Amino acid sequence: MQKTVLITGASRGIGAETARQFARAGYQTAINYFKSEEAALALCAELRAEGFTVFPIQADVSDPEQAVRMVDTVLEKFCQLDILVCNAGIAQTKLLSDFTIEEWRRIFAVNVDGVFHCCRAVLPHFVHRKAGKILTVSSMWGQTGGSCEVPYSASKAAVIGFTKALAKEVGPSGITVNCVSPGVIQTEMNGNLTPRDLDALREETPLERIGTPADVAAALLFLASPAGDFFTGQVLAPNGGILI
Ligand code: NDP
Repeated sequence: MQKTVLITGASRGIGAETARQFARAGYQTAINYFKSEEAALALCAELRAEGFTVFPIQADVSDPEQAVRMVDTVLEKFCQLDILVCNAGIAQTKLLSDFTIEEWRRIFAVNVDGVFHCCRAVLPHFVHRKAGKILTVSSMWGQTGGSCEVPYSASKAAVIGFTKALAKEVGPSGITVNCVSPGVIQTEMNGNLTPRDLDALREETPLERIGTPADVAAALLFLASPAGDFFTGQVLAPNGGILI
């Protein structure tokens, strides 16, 4: 039977490329977006033209009710869900003392609460089936801490803790939970980096290049595949060696 994946934040960047790779690997793919409806619909049209089964679904993952509605809608559409990829995320760069409480809360609401809402929504289905894979997306800054990215780093560290704890909790129910923790990846999220910043990051990276969304998507696809079946609670880091 064809497997099914729900990818959050799949309208752009890493999520969009992950949707492409999963669809092309034969997964029925639900493409969640929040604001970028045009991009999400264009991606669906692109993949449908290639003959794949894809389904766009609008939801703000920071809203628990919208997360439940999204999962319910995907289950109605595909009858089954095999993989959840919690990719949606936001970042903001400035001194910690310049962050407002609202900005701090919004970063946690999307990056941490969003993962909680989506996992909580799929777990009854996964537990009932005694199967399912959850993939979270952290960041190298969640592992090592990034200057001027304190709220983002803290939220991504929380995602790693969440992944490890949930892996222990649901492993006996046949569910795996793993995290992919990318290094610097060329997407709109890094649009504020100057060419000089990118050169400096490239120089710091043993593999001497900036990562691509495809590098991250490949790691997610591997963990979702049968080859990833004995992994749980792990952090896989496509980062070119910038953090070892
Ligand atoms: P982009 O900014 O390119 O894309 C972010 C995606 O998240 C968009 O599809 C956006 O949807 C979606 N999104 C944002 N807020 C919400 C929300 N409330 N509900 C649902 N979807 C939402 O980011 P990247 O592709 O670069 O990042 C993807 C993930 O990878 C993030 O978790 C990020 O933290 C992580 N990451 C990125 C790295 C990088 O260098 N780029 C490095 C390490 C980790 P829409 O546009 O429809 O609103």
